[in-house]
Amino acid sequence: MSCAVLSVGSNMGDRLQHLRSVAESLGARVVSRSSVYVTAPWGDTDQEDFYNTILIAECPTWDMWSWLEFAQRCERRAERVRERHWGPRTLDVDIVSCSDAGEQLTSSDPKLTLPHPRAHERAFVLVPWLEAEPAATLLGVPLSEHLDALPRGERAGVRRLDDQAEWFV
Ligand code: ATP
Ligand code: CA
Ligand code: CA
Repeated sequence: MSCAVLSVGSNMGDRLQHLRSVAESLGARVVSRSSVYVTAPWGDTDQEDFYNTILIAECPTWDMWSWLEFAQRCERRAERVRERHWGPRTLDVDIVSCSDAGEQLTSSDPKLTLPHPRAHERAFVLVPWLEAEPAATLLGVPLSEHLDALPRGERAGVRRLDDQAEWFV
């Protein structure tokens, strides 16, 4: 059984529907999910706010590459187009971390780096992940410690969406 922590983001079009499309494709594989959070864009700041969430999913037959293929399939289906790196996109699905039979997987392959090399410095990953899996660790360190190490204000820049009714259906 493999387990993946997926960071899902959208800042174009029907953002909530884009997030929901990933949860719906995963179906019964979802074992935990966070609320939706609204985050100021990272990197290139001249664009709409992101909606971000964390989905934790399990599958008895998928390996880490299957999770990447799934992520890219979701992005293609959302007709993701993007002109500039870290620019606006309909859907971004990153594999934050992946384990198999309870063992954390690591990979330095640029096509799939595990854990995701920038996850520990992103409040929009850590805040929802902490909600979905309070006991989780990343690089051997509890998520709350990674959050405490972020520059002041990072964490406050990630706020829970007021109305979650369309998300937790
Ligand atoms: P960032 O990775 O900093 O969040 P991004 O999500 O905007 O940036 P993309 O353009 O979506 O980057 O992805 C670029 C490539 O990253 C993909 O083609 C994919 O093969 C590779 N990649 C490496 N590690 C991962 C991972 N853990 N999850 C998803 N994609 C990954
Ligand atoms: Ca990303
Ligand atoms: Ca990505």
